[in-house]
Amino acid sequence: MPDDSELPTAIRKVLLDYGLETEAPLQRRIFTNRDLNFDKISTIGFDMDYTLAIYRQDAIETLSITTTTDKLLARGYPEKLRETQHDPRFAIRGLTVDRKLGNVIKMDRHGYVGRAYHGLRKLPRPERKAIYRDQRLGQERERFAPVDTLFALPEVTLFAAVVELIDAAPEAFGSDGPPSYAEAWLDVRECIDLAHRDGSIKDLVREDPGKYIDRDPDLARALHQLRSAGKRLFLLTNSLFDYTDVVMRYLLDQALPSYPDWTAYFDWMVVGSAKPTFFTDNPPFQELDRQGAPVGPRRASVQRGKIYNGGNQQGLQSALGVHPDEVLYVGDHIYGDIVRSKKSSGWRTALIVQELQHELEVRRDWALTVRQIEDLHGLRARLAEEISAQRYLARVLGRLEPDELTVTGVTLTEAEHTLEQTRISIRRRLDWLRAYEEDTRETLERRSQEVDGAFNPYWGSSFAERHDASRFGAQVESFACVYTSRVSNLLFVSPAKYFISPHGSLPHWSAGS
Ligand code: IMP
Ligand code: MG
Repeated sequence: MPDDSELPTAIRKVLLDYGLETEAPLQRRIFTNRDLNFDKISTIGFDMDYTLAIYRQDAIETLSITTTTDKLLARGYPEKLRETQHDPRFAIRGLTVDRKLGNVIKMDRHGYVGRAYHGLRKLPRPERKAIYRDQRLGQERERFAPVDTLFALPEVTLFAAVVELIDAAPEAFGSDGPPSYAEAWLDVRECIDLAHRDGSIKDLVREDPGKYIDRDPDLARALHQLRSAGKRLFLLTNSLFDYTDVVMRYLLDQALPSYPDWTAYFDWMVVGSAKPTFFTDNPPFQELDRQGAPVGPRRASVQRGKIYNGGNQQGLQSALGVHPDEVLYVGDHIYGDIVRSKKSSGWRTALIVQELQHELEVRRDWALTVRQIEDLHGLRARLAEEISAQRYLARVLGRLEPDELTVTGVTLTEAEHTLEQTRISIRRRLDWLRAYEEDTRETLERRSQEVDGAFNPYWGSSFAERHDASRFGAQVESFACVYTSRVSNLLFVSPAKYFISPHGSLPHWSAGS
């Protein structure tokens, strides 16, 4: 059988229009955690914000910080807060806020805290270890706040600025003194929440969507390709109609002549869905007209081609009329979109991780150093093993008396000499091994810092911590069936593709081979 590469170019070109798979650039590939037969997926749902709509992170973050700062000042926070310079690189997804101590931390998959900042000060290793060594992080929900979405990044940046201010200028907070770190976190959280809900953020995005949203030129074609392959699409967003309509118009209206407006791309549309409770509770759906005004009574289910507010997963599921494992839901929120939908609905999941593009670019540009770091880790582990073995040997020899050797037939003088020589040679070998280990450790540290700096100068890679997956990386692996940097990457995938995971293994599986 000839493979695709042997087909004449003209035929390949025509077949592409039928959704034949093409080679995607590295940054646009789709990665698989759990096998997924795309041919069996008949219905695909999309979240909107940070899924269909790619935000310009710097612009939306500046807007969120400015509007939230206004609200904090109205609550009596010092004017000085407005003068703070914010580094948009400070916050990344997957961090955890320690409300009690005013720290921001990054954990590996086991909950080990690998990095921590108090305000903008990096905690030195001994201080970090003293605080977090014995911490049972998973068990103190009240104390630790996860940073799950890109919407949450500005609140982390702002919290760090407030912590700096509390420490550096407590008098600026007036006669009552500064709030505790935990109170400050709550203030930041409430103010940003309000900024999302009272229009402070959304009104400005609606006025000029292009300033805040990066219109993906491939999105319309990608959705069209899915529809042409017979898949049915739905929109399921927490944003309310007035905002959804502006954003979706900006993304899709006039993109393709055969679609009169954005609603023509979707068979079902649900706004104001209140995920994650959409997946667990049972509120009714409210139909809306094209101006967003309620029409008719509330209902338990939805009809095709109409727009609804609210509702619940079961009602939507019954309208889709297919088995839940034929549904793929594409979202960016690891908890609200992915964990909840997977646990409660049985839908398959695709996670959009905007950061993946930068992650893959850095991994490609620094591939040689990344490989060297892996080798150095291996070398260091072997050296550590050898050092322990030699130390144990040295301890045993240290306790050995020369006359214990005479049972083998050597004289006492020979025994003393042999023992002494062996001890000296083991000591020498240990010195050499230790120097080698130290040298390896230093090179490893230096190389890791270089690569970390390219990922993010504060935190390194979002997906990794030290030589393991970060908490975020482990969540992506556990919860998303597939993940990719943007929705339009589906353009490179045949509608009948079988996504196959590399299949993990446990350490003992290869022991016998
Ligand atoms: P989705 O991702 O399309 O489901 O929409 C997410 C919605 O949640 C957007 O309308 C955001 O403005 C909104 N949002 C994000 N963070 C907050 C918050 O802290 N409080 C209230 N709304 C938020
Ligand atoms: Mg979203």
